[in-house]
Parts: sequence; C-alpha cells; structure tokens
Amino acid sequence: MIASSLPSWETASPAHICPFDQACSYLEQAGKELKLDAGILEVLSHPHKVVTVSIPMKRDNGEIQVLAGHRVQHCDVLGPYKGGIRYHPAVTLREVSALAMLMTWKCALLGIPYGGAKGGIAIDPKKYSVGELERITRRYTSELIKDIGPSVDIPAPDMGTSAREMAWMMDTYSVNVGHAVPGVVTGKPLSIGGSRGREMATGRGVMITVREALADMGKSLQGVRVAIQGFGNVGSAAAILLHQAGAKIIAVSTGGGGVYDDYGLDIPALKAYTAQNHRSVVGFSPGVAISNAELLTLPCDVLIPAALENQITEENVKEVQARIIAEAANGPVTLAANQYLESQNITVLPDILANAGGVVVSYLEWVQGLSYVFWDEERVNREMEQLMVQAYRQVMQESKTRGIPIRLAAYSLGVGRVAQAWSDRGLYP
Ligand code: NAD
Repeated sequence: MIASSLPSWETASPAHICPFDQACSYLEQAGKELKLDAGILEVLSHPHKVVTVSIPMKRDNGEIQVLAGHRVQHCDVLGPYKGGIRYHPAVTLREVSALAMLMTWKCALLGIPYGGAKGGIAIDPKKYSVGELERITRRYTSELIKDIGPSVDIPAPDMGTSAREMAWMMDTYSVNVGHAVPGVVTGKPLSIGGSRGREMATGRGVMITVREALADMGKSLQGVRVAIQGFGNVGSAAAILLHQAGAKIIAVSTGGGGVYDDYGLDIPALKAYTAQNHRSVVGFSPGVAISNAELLTLPCDVLIPAALENQITEENVKEVQARIIAEAANGPVTLAANQYLESQNITVLPDILANAGGVVVSYLEWVQGLSYVFWDEERVNREMEQLMVQAYRQVMQESKTRGIPIRLAAYSLGVGRVAQAWSDRGLYP
C-alpha cells in the first residue's frame, strides 16, 4: 500500500473509510497494471501543494467565527490545476486531497490540459445567510490569492457551491489584482463569461455515459428504470435529461429522505417543487416516501449516486439490484463494494468518467474566455459530447484489450497519461 502522505495534524477523516487511502489504492492498482516505475508512483501519490487557511468571519449576530479553508493541488504536469470548491460539514483535508487526486486522473482521461485540485470548507451552507456565505467566500479567495489564477489553479462549483460563489470568487480575485480576470474560475454566471451549458454539464455527461453503456448492451434509454440519490447541481440535471430521453425516474432522494413512484416521477414538477421546498424532495406528491438507504437497493436498471462519497459499501452492496451504477458523485462506491460489484458483472461507470462532463465544459468555458469568442449552447453540448463519448469508448477498449474491469481501465488511461507526461518532462533539478 502506498503510504498516505498528508500532514499528521489531519485527524477529522470519516470514521471507517479514509478517502485518501482509497484513492491511493486505485492509483496503486493502475501502477501495477501499467508496470509503472516505483519512483513515479511515489511522486503521483503525494499532493504537490496542500494549503489550509484560517477564515475569520463575522456572523450576522456579531459573533466571530474562524473556519478552516483547504485547497489541495495534486499534480500539474499537464496544465493548470483545476477542481471544485465544496461547502459541506463532512469536508476534511483527507477528503479534499483524495478528490484533488481524482481530478488529475479525470482531466487526463478526458484529454484536457489540466492538473487536479480541490478545495473545501467544513460548513453546512444552509446554516449561513447569503451575506455570511459571501463574506466566507471572499475571505477564503483572498487568503488563496497567490495560489489561484487562470494559468495557475482554476476553481469551479462542487457540493454546496454554485455560479453565485464563483462570481464572488472572480470579483474578489479581480479586485485584488486590479483588473477583471474572468478566467480565474469556471462555472460562473453567463454575465461574466460563463459558458452556456455549464449548469447541466455534469448531469449531461452522466446521461451520455449511461446511454452509451446501455447501447453496448443493445438497449436504449427509453423506459429504463432509474433511481437517483441527490437532486442538486448534478442529480437534478441528470434526472431532467434522462427523463427527456424517455427514461423512467422511479426514485430521487435529498438529504432528508426520498420519494418513489413506480410509474415514474414527474421530474419537471419535482424540480419546481424543490425550488419552493428548500431543495428537498421530501413530501413530493404523487410519490411514496422512502429513505436514502431504501433508494440505493430498489429494483431498477440504473442507480445514480449523485450526492456523497461512500454510499455503497460492504454493508449494503449485496442488496443493490441495479445492473448499471453511474458514479455521478465522486467516490460513492467504496473499494470493497466495488470489488463485489465487479465480481457480479454489474457495470460500474466510474466517477472519473461518468461525472467528467462538468470539468469538460469548464475547460470549454476557459477556452472561450481565453479566445474572447463565446459559443451557442448547441456547440458547447456538441463539443462536450464528443469528448465524453471518445473517453467512454477508450475506457471500454482499454478494458477489453487488457481484460480488466472498467474502473481499472479508466484509471490506467488517466494515470498512464500523467506518468508519460511526467517522465517526458523529467525531474527538476
Ligand atoms: P449539490 O450540493 O448541488 O447537491 C447535493 C445533493 O445531495 C443535494 O440534493 C443534497 O440534498 C443531497 N444529499 C446530501 N446529503 C445526502 C444524503 N445523505 N443522502 C442523499 N442525498 C443527500 O452538489 P453537486 O454539485 O450536485 O455534487 C454532488 C456530487 O457530484 C459530489 O460528489 C460532487 O463532488 C460531484 N460532482 C459535482 C460536479 C459539479 O459540476 N457540480 C462535477 C463533478 C462531480
């Protein structure tokens, strides 16, 4: 096992599964498959830069609170660092480091010239006012000012953040450097250089990979039964696009529980309901209330975990009934659960492929910004679809040629490209 290489003061990782050890384990498997040099593997198992800043902020009631804001830059041999900013109570440095490493392989797999990064603050954004969130975001950005930039490290939205936070980050960065720098973030509003199609991009990528996997089985999306955990940026977009393509979304859940309808939920009505109901699907009708745990084990064709990590574990994996699992979230299936699913020939579309639509359109947003030419949505979707389908086919081909599971094939392609670039660049000094 590759030694975990994070500072010893990090202690807040989740109780039983360390996300960073899990990420290193996938790296190790890919290294073995590719017969990578041990030195290169050692380099790739360490994040290049780990930054934690204090964010003192004044709450609306006058109380001063100090938050910790992380940014981890994993590897930039292919280009500037790229990765989301997460606001969620379960954020830890280990989780952020694991997600930064995943971003490196994801960008390489999709053939886009970025390295991996991730950032986060352990807060529940629902417990803060808009003004408080703005103060937190601006101070966090200001503390990171020397570590981010359009050719250095480019943040994007993730759990708990959206175009709004990206606009605050872009403005804070721009004011600090003295001129407008739209390229410092992606996933920003259209009014300041965002890309058409970005909001739906990750969900669209999920829909595309599921569609391709079904096509490989001789099926189409028409009438396919889908359960989706999470109805945020990613889950709701995937639900809308799958619904439009004729799939039957039989269940959806959010933090407080889920809703089930065997005839298929009315997704546009559910989207409107969540907009009025603090983004929760609980209480939606027609539909029956179910728990998050129940959703994961429903009889369905496709299961899409689109919320948190470690949702399908050794404890519940044997009850999963789906034939395809599309990892819309990062790391929703644990290492042990993944082994079981592979042994049962259940198709797992791994996160670094299935949820790559977001970073692909982030890349397209960055390219548009750098060239000062902005495309219509049709072009963005077309370019994104091309990259997604190409990556999907390459992964399936790699899996077939090497006789290895899909996830290992995806990692082998991503890790192999980074290792090649690293060895071509050489070690300085
Ligand atoms: P979000 O905050 O917009 O939505 C998260 C959703 O998960 C919400 O509906 C929330 O209610 C639900 N949720 C939270 N805890 C839950 C629980 N215990 N059970 C069931 N549902 C729960 O976040 P998002 O941007 O949609 O991100 C979701 C996942 O997708 C994350 O793993 C993220 O890293 C990954 N991802 C996001 C993007 C992106 O573009 N936003 C890109 C790639 C990967």
